[in-house]
Amino acid sequence: MPELPEVETVRRGLLPVMEGQQILQAAVNRPDLRWPLPDRMAERLTGARVLALRRRSKYILADLSTDETLIIHLGMSGRMLISGGVVGAFHHEHPAPGKHDHVVLEMEGGARVTFNDARRFGAMDLIATAGADAHPLLAALGPEPFGNDFDEIYLAGVLAGRRTPIKSALLDQRLIAGLGNIYVCEVLFRAGLAPQRLAGALTQLQTAQLVPIIRDVLAEAIEAGGSSLRDHRQTNGELGYFQHNFRVYGREGQPCATPGCDAMIARVVQSGRSSFYCPSCQR
Ligand SMILES: [Zn+2]
Repeated sequence: MPELPEVETVRRGLLPVMEGQQILQAAVNRPDLRWPLPDRMAERLTGARVLALRRRSKYILADLSTDETLIIHLGMSGRMLISGGVVGAFHHEHPAPGKHDHVVLEMEGGARVTFNDARRFGAMDLIATAGADAHPLLAALGPEPFGNDFDEIYLAGVLAGRRTPIKSALLDQRLIAGLGNIYVCEVLFRAGLAPQRLAGALTQLQTAQLVPIIRDVLAEAIEAGGSSLRDHRQTNGELGYFQHNFRVYGREGQPCATPGCDAMIARVVQSGRSSFYCPSCQR
């Protein structure tokens, strides 16, 4: 499941072939993904210019010259493929159409952008730009982790008195947008907080420290995505998935990475999701 850093990596990969460019031709090859696709989607996209390509939480938003915004959600298995465009010194030939190529955009600069999703948990919608923030997928989202609205005063306010584990609170998209299971595990490890700790029981200092830790963990992952993007696009034009060096996520039973700690990474299931943590470093 792509989280914020993966989605941001995809957005950055799409920028050079989409932003500022006209969609010469759009093809929509099926009526639905996770939900029905918008009416006349291909017709409404064809000829539109992408004025800006931005991200909100795990969604990519393309603001169009037609005063509409294309919302893209990769879901579990959605992939964005670029072909035909010049990528650095490399040029990807258009591949033969794939079985799961659901939406194909031919861009002004010669690139073809393909949304491929074998499991169809992804979603796309096309709505008036003026009302985009009120879209059902976006309306209830909390502030962006990198935004000005997210700071220690905000975080202390939403965590105060909350009798849920800190793990669940940080996963709550209404409190902070874009954090998923993987990066919350990594954040809590870096913060030295056990995932079971009650959100409302954190000290002022612990809460304050979470803000830069969240930003650092996400920024490092975005950075890793950027370097992998350069390598990966040179091979097959696919964006967004890369090898991480997680400290705790997926490392149950392996030694803790903290120097001097001889504990093993443990796993506990909370609200149906696995939390990985070091029982010694995280209290
Ligand atoms: Zn440890």
